Amino acid sequence: MKILQIALDVPLPRLFDYRLAGEPADSLVGRLARVPFGPGVKIGVVVQVADTSDQPADKLKSAELVADLPALPADWLELCGFCARYYHFPVGQVTTFALPPLLRRGKKPRNPKAKASAVPPAPTLLAPLARNPGSLPPTGGASAWDGPAPTFHSATPDQAAAIKAITQASGFQTFLLHGVTGSGKTEVYLRAIESVLALGGQALMLVPEIALTPQLESRVSARFPGAQIVSAHSGVADAARARAFLAAQEGRADIVLGTRLSVFMPMPRLQLIVVDEEHDASFKQQEGLRYSARDVAIFRAKQRDIPIVLGSATPSFESFYHAGSGRYRRLDLPLRAVALAMPRVATVDTRKQKLQDGLSAELIAAISERLRRGEQSLIFLNRRGYAPVLACPSCGWISHCRRCAANLVLHLADRRLRCHHCGLEVAVPHACPDCGNLDLQPFGRGTQRLEAKLVELFPSARILRIDRDSADSPKKWHALLAAIHAGEADILIGTQMLAKGHDFPLLTLVGVVGADAALFAADFRAPERLFSQLMQVGGRSGRAALPGEVLIQTEYPDHPLYRALIEHDYSAFAQEQLAERDAAGFPPFAFQALLRAEAPELAGALAFLATAVEAAEALAAPDISLYDPVPMRLARLKNRERAQLLVESRSRPALQSFLADWMTQLYTLKMPRDLRWHLDVDPLEF
Ligand SMILES: [Zn+2]
Ligand SMILES: [Zn+2]
Repeated sequence: MKILQIALDVPLPRLFDYRLAGEPADSLVGRLARVPFGPGVKIGVVVQVADTSDQPADKLKSAELVADLPALPADWLELCGFCARYYHFPVGQVTTFALPPLLRRGKKPRNPKAKASAVPPAPTLLAPLARNPGSLPPTGGASAWDGPAPTFHSATPDQAAAIKAITQASGFQTFLLHGVTGSGKTEVYLRAIESVLALGGQALMLVPEIALTPQLESRVSARFPGAQIVSAHSGVADAARARAFLAAQEGRADIVLGTRLSVFMPMPRLQLIVVDEEHDASFKQQEGLRYSARDVAIFRAKQRDIPIVLGSATPSFESFYHAGSGRYRRLDLPLRAVALAMPRVATVDTRKQKLQDGLSAELIAAISERLRRGEQSLIFLNRRGYAPVLACPSCGWISHCRRCAANLVLHLADRRLRCHHCGLEVAVPHACPDCGNLDLQPFGRGTQRLEAKLVELFPSARILRIDRDSADSPKKWHALLAAIHAGEADILIGTQMLAKGHDFPLLTLVGVVGADAALFAADFRAPERLFSQLMQVGGRSGRAALPGEVLIQTEYPDHPLYRALIEHDYSAFAQEQLAERDAAGFPPFAFQALLRAEAPELAGALAFLATAVEAAEALAAPDISLYDPVPMRLARLKNRERAQLLVESRSRPALQSFLADWMTQLYTLKMPRDLRWHLDVDPLEF
């Protein structure tokens, strides 16, 4: 008798045995199967076939294969197995996550062949906004994926060298393509993809944000009109996502573009992986399977013995370190592809002057100058809302979220107080809820307050605010982008939303406001993030025919981070930060995992972690450091108290082997019903 060992969406790190119902089939491994489980029915993936089971034969229930769906390939199962082992996550939950929602339910998308092989196929899978070229201007913006693409079919010497290195790679090799904004990284990706397609291979390209995929799709499909291109991200409708998955799996799709989840697309002819903006934190999933798509992509390239290209203007310090140590091969694109100077970066010392609602005289003068010349300015403030808190000066009341350890942010546009962590919102009170004082005061400033001040200072200027409140749908977001490109805005106020991947030809001034707080954050990755954010936002200026200027308002004008930005010296800053991390024993010089627990009371979460520490100490694993359980920085979220425990080792194998033993122990612990815990391997957020 054949025993099917099936991965099911159950929070247990094991497979489940079933008998095969009906006729024996040839290929069982990789097939989807429908099985009775508890009181219901589940769909799972057959991972292995065995001749015997630990369970008595008469206890085995029977599984029914889902018809009409092809078996998932062995390397896909192996990829899921790797994620289950490395992230210590139940294998059935990995396979479920890696499948598109329709296939998880054992359903086949209707008429997949007719849809997926129609010519030209790509537009059917494009997000709606990208299908309407009228929503974007014909030049500049439309192809502004990575700056203007004037060198459509000719490469600079640096680009040519990078393309040659990638296309001549034999087998697995990780390339770090380090190029400033506008240096033409996309052209290198496209050339490498071109050479893979010419050899009959498939290419996978990962990008950090859904918002960026339509632009990229337009550019890629214009470049490869004969190729079948599919996209995979959470914004694609269920049926289209399942069709894209099957098109990739059956080898009909030549190029797969997508966000982090597309790293799980099965691709039999996969010959190249590209991870653009590899430093971006959105490649790491922060819930469920807490995987890093960049790291999983590297595993996948190794598994398939193919090259992978990680591209960035500001590589993660981990990747930069690996390039320095020779583990990755570094490829540099030091110049902007279009002959342009880098923007002039300068600090404005705000200690010596009285600011007007957060704006210095220099910045106001610089904005006036742009208005006079008919150019655009962008004021970058990475905090949305009007003010981060509303307070009562007479009794000390502040707008606090009753579900989280956080303040409610004042949104004056619609007179609401909102929690940016849990989404709770209430109307702005007319008087202090505690003492009845009518004079409540906003403290600090967000983009709305800055907007109000700029409207007051420049009453005739056209001012656009771009943040998650003003661009809360793709439609609004694209309308805002179109307005900017059409020159219908003089001053932009934006959060990090505006920093990525957009090229504004008329933009010549970027003002940075309120960045200092991140200089002294407790998270050791905060300087890296701030540097990359400011480099990106600065890169928005002066990208067409006009030179750009970046003014950073700060109370710490001599801070090494700002000095490095002024010098455009990423490498110097990265090396300095890496030296600090080496001394402190932080990644990439150590490997980390966080065990997090949440419960209605903090004591419950801490008690679980204390038990986990005892279990860990009993294992007496070598080379492992265990830290004390502590409340998380945002200790209360949605009425749940959260605590965490850091585990560290200088050796990745030592950490992995310890975690495997430790998890086995933790799964056997008896847990209060209201306690939840999870493990985060290589955590990005603390
Ligand atoms: Zn009061
Ligand atoms: Zn809240």
